[in-house]
Amino acid sequence: MDKKLRFNSATIHGGQEHDKAYGSVMPPIYQTSTYAQTTPGGHKGYEYSRTHNPTRTALERSIASIENAKHGLAFASGMAAMDTVIKLFQPGDEIISTHDLYGGSYRLLTQIYKKYGLKIHFVNMEKPETLVQYFNDKTRLIWIETPTNPMMNIVDIRTIAELGKAHDTLVAVDNTFASPYLQKPLDLGADIVMHSATKYLAGHSDTVLGLIVVSDDELQEKLAFIQNSSGAVPGPMDCFLTLRGIKTLHLRMQRHCENSAAVAIFLQQHPKIKKVYWPGLVDHPNHELAKNQMKAFGGMLSFVPKSGDLKTSIAIVEKLKIFTLAESLGGVESLAGHPASMTHASIPKAVREKSGVGDQLIRLSVGVEDILDLIEDLDQAIA
Ligand SMILES: *Cc1c(COP(=O)(O)O)cnc(C)c1O
Repeated sequence: MDKKLRFNSATIHGGQEHDKAYGSVMPPIYQTSTYAQTTPGGHKGYEYSRTHNPTRTALERSIASIENAKHGLAFASGMAAMDTVIKLFQPGDEIISTHDLYGGSYRLLTQIYKKYGLKIHFVNMEKPETLVQYFNDKTRLIWIETPTNPMMNIVDIRTIAELGKAHDTLVAVDNTFASPYLQKPLDLGADIVMHSATKYLAGHSDTVLGLIVVSDDELQEKLAFIQNSSGAVPGPMDCFLTLRGIKTLHLRMQRHCENSAAVAIFLQQHPKIKKVYWPGLVDHPNHELAKNQMKAFGGMLSFVPKSGDLKTSIAIVEKLKIFTLAESLGGVESLAGHPASMTHASIPKAVREKSGVGDQLIRLSVGVEDILDLIEDLDQAIA
């Protein structure tokens, strides 16, 4: 299919070809490690499944299509995808990163890569112009996450991408929270997009998988070399499940956004709730930027109860019945989490509190259930 498809068609058909063998409509799961050759080197484009696998190729083409990218690369997890990006760099190189980023990303940068001699500056990116002081001739990468997790701050991708260009520095965006339904960072000037496809892209809490997209051929070659050399690749079954998830991404995201809007308004008006963090609220500090940068405001939100102690927040998450208390996000089912003791436990308390992640904060991944059931559930848990 050569025609450039609109997003809601690209999720289903983008980069896909009908199966040549039997015309199967869904891509076959090529559960194989190797491929027969007729003569040494005489193969049909596939030699060994760490390097390539046809089911993985279908997924890599799909994500490239929906992110408006030239190339896609699939990995065993979101962290394996990020790890591959960071392996582009050498001891002495410097990275500028958002300070309130996913706990696992913070852990990878600080506990794995610091000891290999990378220097990482964790900064507040709300005012992009303040980044200028961190650039020097060793700066190689700006790592953005937006909306940030779990505070739902919005980072201005376009302005930071311009800064990156001016300083000959790559700009990578962890697009997990938004998904390409809400924002396409390459269109805004970024060089690399990374996904934990475990979340919205696969969308059903049944797969762990990571993705990267780029449009630069040289960058693609370098990343594919690391992908093959380090070998953190996903199996064909997980690629198939993620592809299947992507086919309904636009439908699910639309409902995630509608439901989270209703939950945000319900919580904001609730007398026992002190603060709601959701970029769609007009009093959110980055609301205007979110309106500009994103198609809608996403399915993730955080809130703080008025009685600001740890016990109240723990009691609320324990009392929820439809929201499941669990790590992760982006599945069809609603989840609740307590970042300080769950997703963000790997970040030191002082660092975490500096970015607003206090012991009282509750994070919700609003699913696609009936909104009235979700609101009734929150109402009984908060009461
Ligand atoms: C979950 C997550 C990751 C890590 O992805 P895995 O698939 O769990 O390895 C990275 N960034 C964000 C924003 C996430 O939510």
